[in-house]
Amino acid sequence: MDKKIKFTSYTLEEIQELFLINQIEEYRAKQIFGSLYEKYTTSFDDINNIPKLLKEKLNSIFTLDIPEIMDISKSEDNTTKFLLKLEDGNTIECVYLPYNDRNSICVSTQVGCPVGCDFCASCVNGYIRNLEVSEIIGQILAVQKEINKKITHVVYMGIGEPLLNYNNVVRSINIINRNLNLSERRITVSTSGIVSKIKKLATADLDITLALSLHTPYQYDRIKLIPTARENTIDDLLLACDDYFTKTKRRITWEYLLIKGVNDSELHAKSLANLAKLHKAHINLIPYNPVKGKRYKRPDYNAIRKFNDVLKSHKVVFSIRQEKGTNENAACGQLRNEN
Ligand code: SAH
Ligand code: SF4
Repeated sequence: MDKKIKFTSYTLEEIQELFLINQIEEYRAKQIFGSLYEKYTTSFDDINNIPKLLKEKLNSIFTLDIPEIMDISKSEDNTTKFLLKLEDGNTIECVYLPYNDRNSICVSTQVGCPVGCDFCASCVNGYIRNLEVSEIIGQILAVQKEINKKITHVVYMGIGEPLLNYNNVVRSINIINRNLNLSERRITVSTSGIVSKIKKLATADLDITLALSLHTPYQYDRIKLIPTARENTIDDLLLACDDYFTKTKRRITWEYLLIKGVNDSELHAKSLANLAKLHKAHINLIPYNPVKGKRYKRPDYNAIRKFNDVLKSHKVVFSIRQEKGTNENAACGQLRNEN
């Protein structure tokens, strides 16, 4: 394993301290930060306002740990999926989603996923490991360089369960906020629902949006879709979410995958609407993106509209996720690690 210090896991103040210990002039830290985070440089060698000797020293002490782009696939709507190789050879994916004046990125948090939802592509090759903070930040830096634009929004909806990599995810949010100067309000973390970690997150003093992948108002449905739903029951999750709302004053978003014949009935819609009103949640409907080898299907247009109408008649706050990137398998839930 690389014993070098992972540069992008640290804030400016921390790097300044590390520079002091390693006899590097403190003011260099700001120069390097400007180059990495604002000018899309991805190697010490490419920073043009520092001397060669310093570059050598930086390379001997630190690593930038930026994943290598192995493949890029662009959809018609310009949604772009990146296949990235990590230092140890494992691969992950992330997605760039341009939308009006927004440049969003959907980042991965693990290699594979240990949760194993029955409908999802991210876990079909199993689970390997958590990502380091620098590997989460590295996805953003690699993409910024490629698109030559600043990322404005980050969603933790790529491969993996963010709350099962809790410490690194929370630290990466702090780094995004401070080093990339991006408000926490522009960051969304999506979770399949880990009660203990939602409770912990409520006390982390973050201003992010939490999205809960609810997918059905019924416990007996949910355990068929999400294996960890057995120990993280809907009742307990909703209590934890209420607590999150009370402590953070941030409304929770409920993601609701619409799957044909599974959770798209009128009864589902009514129960969901009543629950959402009770818990003051926003709902984000996501028509299912078919995954090769999985038996699940997207409901037809009329079924989606009917579901939509029930929510509307109950005056629930909701939106339907725009179709982005489905033709390049770049949509959420279609990301996988392929070794
Ligand atoms: N592990 C976290 C975050 C990554 S998945 C979670 O489960 O929330 C991000 C979102 O994509 C989740 O809401 C997930 O349910 C959804 N998703 C998974 N597979 C999908 C698919 N095939 N089509 C559409 N959305 C999918
Ligand atoms: Fe993991 Fe989320 Fe996919 Fe479930 S939906 S397997 S938690 S990435």
